[in-house]
Amino acid sequence: MYDVIVIGSGPGGYVTAIRAAQLGFQTAVVERDRVGGRCLNYACIPAKAVLRVADVATEIREAGEFGITVGEPSIDFAAVMERRNRVVGTLTGGVSGLLKKNGVELIEGSGSLAGEGRVRVGERTLEARFIVLATGSVKRPIPGTEFGGRVIGTEEAWALEELPGSLAVIGSGASGSEIASAYARLGARVQLFEALDRVLPSEDADISRLAERGFKKQGIEVHTGTLVRDVRSGEGSVTFTFGEQSGEADYVVIAAGRGPDIEGLGLDVAEVALDERGLIAVDGAMRTNVPGVYAIGDLVAGPALAHKASDEGVIAVEDAAGLVTHPISYIDIPRATFCAPNVASFGLTEEQARAQGHDVVVGKVPYGAVGAGTVYGDRTGLVKLIGDRQYGELLGGHIIGAKATELIQELVNARLLEGGFPEVARIIHGHPTMSEAVMEAARALDGWLIHG
Ligand SMILES: Cc1cc2nc3c(=O)[nH]c(=O)nc-3n(C[C@H](O)[C@H](O)[C@H](O)COP(=O)(O)OP(=O)(O)OC[C@H]3O[C@@H](n4cnc5c(N)ncnc54)[C@H](O)[C@@H]3O)c2cc1C
Repeated sequence: MYDVIVIGSGPGGYVTAIRAAQLGFQTAVVERDRVGGRCLNYACIPAKAVLRVADVATEIREAGEFGITVGEPSIDFAAVMERRNRVVGTLTGGVSGLLKKNGVELIEGSGSLAGEGRVRVGERTLEARFIVLATGSVKRPIPGTEFGGRVIGTEEAWALEELPGSLAVIGSGASGSEIASAYARLGARVQLFEALDRVLPSEDADISRLAERGFKKQGIEVHTGTLVRDVRSGEGSVTFTFGEQSGEADYVVIAAGRGPDIEGLGLDVAEVALDERGLIAVDGAMRTNVPGVYAIGDLVAGPALAHKASDEGVIAVEDAAGLVTHPISYIDIPRATFCAPNVASFGLTEEQARAQGHDVVVGKVPYGAVGAGTVYGDRTGLVKLIGDRQYGELLGGHIIGAKATELIQELVNARLLEGGFPEVARIIHGHPTMSEAVMEAARALDGWLIHG
């Protein structure tokens, strides 16, 4: 009999298991594939490992501006993938080590609920006081298409054996934009299709505009407000149509949706309820309708992000341990897209803040306004902050440009520590750093922008 059985060892599951063990629970984690889940093995980490190579290639191409003469970099894609695999191996090895160090038992196999605190793994039936479901999500095709042949998902796009000559990417959310931006800079011809009217459509409109400009500079052919149809995978390429035109690419990558991985999980046996979107229904402490059964990560509502999955797992087992927990404010989770230019945000967009009736104040500061933007060679970035004038509340932060994915965190911290833009404006920032642009944007909201 275990105290806690976690099904799935992604960033949700393994963090849950370690936290459960820290709380004194006898814990096991069941994994049917690889420790670390999709995030470490196929998604977040492989993506960032390849994107890093594209960033290095970009820096080499821009070296002339810094007085260094080099030729066009040549990409040894086999070596790129070898490094990708090494990075994954190092991190997944680290997770295995952490599980062991914390006394978490790893059980290999497919887990399914058998009702009343029981989990089936192959021929074995295990029992636990608490069960945490953390099986993540799987790719979904767009209507009228199916995966197969040269029509691939995002995880396959980060595991190609050869550098493709051309890619058509359907969907310009975070994943699609990362794939487009990496492969374009590695030398592929990339077409990026988005059904909505702008790239990164869930970001603030100003950020989408700058991102699209950046994508076009990388040679990406951007088609917004465009549906791709008639996708047919052939021997050496895929053909498709969009509007009145027809297209062809080595691969079509569908980056336009995922669904919870619940097949064979025994939700019906244990009578675990789903919500209206087909996700597992949970309350603010990640409890399902079945006592003792929790669900977290991509299985439940909220943004599909690794750090969200991890935090939910901590909440679930702390609740199981009888500790006081607080529901996550999903809107305040930092969102990061590691394309070039880097994009990161939290909270409301300007449009959302206005629609919600806030007394909106907007501060925009280009990276070029602070010394670091010029020193490090990125004057085109932008920090845009959205505030509510009445109490100086920070409603949203939107950053595009170098290190945006790191810079966003201080705004999230300020908000969650109940600071507003007047506080961020007065916190002393080091010089010369890009973070000074964040401080200046807060000053702009507060009505006393110095540099700009
Ligand atoms: C290409 C791509 C890039 C991404 N990049 C980022 C990023 O940069 N940052 C970010 O925050 N998020 C990113 N995401 C999202 C992130 O990967 C997910 O939000 C995260 O992996 C969810 O974690 P999880 O623990 O819920 O599930 P997963 O990571 O999906 O892990 C679930 C695990 O459960 C296992 N499993 C499933 N069913 C069973 C079963 N019945 N029995 C036993 N084991 C089972 C699976 O094998 C898997 O290992 C990306 C996603 C994609 C597709």
